[in-house]
Amino acid sequence: MRVPFPPRFAARLQGRRVLDLRRRAKYLIADLDDEHSLVMHLGMSGSFRIDEATPVGFPRKSDKIAAHDHVVFHLDQEKRVVYNDPRRFGCMLLIATNEIDADKLFRGLGVEPLSDALDAALLARVFRGRAAPVKALLLDQRLIAGLGNIYVCEALHRAHISPLCAAGSLVTARGRPTAALARLPQAIKEVLTDALKAGGSSLRDHRQIDGSLGYFQHSFRVYDREGAACPTPGCTGSIARAVQSGRSTFYCPHCQK
Ligand SMILES: [Zn+2]
Repeated sequence: MRVPFPPRFAARLQGRRVLDLRRRAKYLIADLDDEHSLVMHLGMSGSFRIDEATPVGFPRKSDKIAAHDHVVFHLDQEKRVVYNDPRRFGCMLLIATNEIDADKLFRGLGVEPLSDALDAALLARVFRGRAAPVKALLLDQRLIAGLGNIYVCEALHRAHISPLCAAGSLVTARGRPTAALARLPQAIKEVLTDALKAGGSSLRDHRQIDGSLGYFQHSFRVYDREGAACPTPGCTGSIARAVQSGRSTFYCPHCQK
């Protein structure tokens, strides 16, 4: 994996109970009953699935270790949780639960996009005077934690903001959000909520825990739709593609200013 497993990883997990399961930014956190937490990141291609385990002595075909299964957690109740990661950019760490917030992975992370902390006033404070494109700032995990390329493209389209525009141009001289910026927090929350309801976006590797695909990719309005008609009602534009910081940006030059 991207970083080595913790020393004695399996031994330290054996017999532990999971007290809580939560998420911070792109990290999944399982708080254990020994005051440590299992911190997991899916990297580019990681996924978890839940298998029915086999009672001892009764091998079943479904219990086979598949290609790229790197970690198997054997739970009681005949279940096992399998971590699969073809590209091995994921990681698993053990961190003292009360030290997580101060850990170098977590300190300095921005607000959760679905929390009340993300609002237009916060964006105006951070964007004020910044010449960088708004898309680059939205992808900066020190500002908003957990937003990726797809959902930034989709949110900017819903808010009718060009990904290329300077972030500072969305703030008035008095430091207030413009009308466009005032739409952005709600657009971000709506895109994420819609995607969660659809089980996420399965472009390459993403799977739900039962192995099924997410289907939000069928609801993309701009992402990966270069040349298609813009879905904004009344807009006659078509979706364009640009490259920003080495990543593809999709947007409608007609209705995103
Ligand atoms: Zn448009």
